[in-house]
Amino acid sequence: MPELPEVETICRGIAPHIMGQTINQVLVRQPSLRWMISDTLAEDLMGLTIKSVTRRGKYLLLATDQGTLLVHLGMSGSLRIVTTAQEVGKHDHVDIIFTNGIVLRYNDPRRFGAMLWTVEAATEHKLLKELGPEPLSEACNGELLFQRSRKRKVPIKSFIMDSHIVVGVGNIYANEALFMAGLLPTRHAGTIALDDYQRLVECIRVVLRHAIEQGGTTLRDFVNESGKAGYFQQQLQVYGRAGLPCVSCEQPLQETRLANRTTVFCCVCQK
Ligand SMILES: [Zn+2]
Repeated sequence: MPELPEVETICRGIAPHIMGQTINQVLVRQPSLRWMISDTLAEDLMGLTIKSVTRRGKYLLLATDQGTLLVHLGMSGSLRIVTTAQEVGKHDHVDIIFTNGIVLRYNDPRRFGAMLWTVEAATEHKLLKELGPEPLSEACNGELLFQRSRKRKVPIKSFIMDSHIVVGVGNIYANEALFMAGLLPTRHAGTIALDDYQRLVECIRVVLRHAIEQGGTTLRDFVNESGKAGYFQQQLQVYGRAGLPCVSCEQPLQETRLANRTTVFCCVCQK
């Protein structure tokens, strides 16, 4: 599943190719994504110029002076920059074709993604309005998480994965950040002290920044025509390592399920 670092990497990867480019045609081969793509999308986008390409949570925002196209990659979506000469593959559901012949091609085998056009301010869109702060921004800090967690009995891992609290901390990164911060994933959010939250926020940032840096090296894979769209592999300390020795104390890592998500931790290093 594309997580915040992948979406950020895709955002940085496609931006230079489509910024300032004018949309000539939109081909929707399969409108049935998580929500049906509007019948008028092609008409709405025709002739518009991309002014900016940004990210909010796991949404990509392609802004024009008439409105914004919100793109979410769902469980299995990807975007590639190709040309009209590039053969259309299975699951290539949407092409946004620019006047210079460049194509932004959306592929999504499981079709849980979304492509929505809005003429209101993107930040006011119902899918974005209630989102918590960006983890890499100053708006997200230990103080805020501490305040919002008081009296909460939800496990800390579920708390930081709640997009109303902070966006973009997916399962892998929640596992990694809690290990780095030395906090047990099962602890109730309300029992964690301010200085622990301050450390946790720093760990979330380190883990996400590291993943974004690693993603940068794979950029070429999805922006060129032959590249197979894929999510990057990375070096993880706990996720996917249950039963293997902890990198710090060498005790075997434990695995449990929290909110139905795989949770791996070290019961020695995490308190
Ligand atoms: Zn350990």
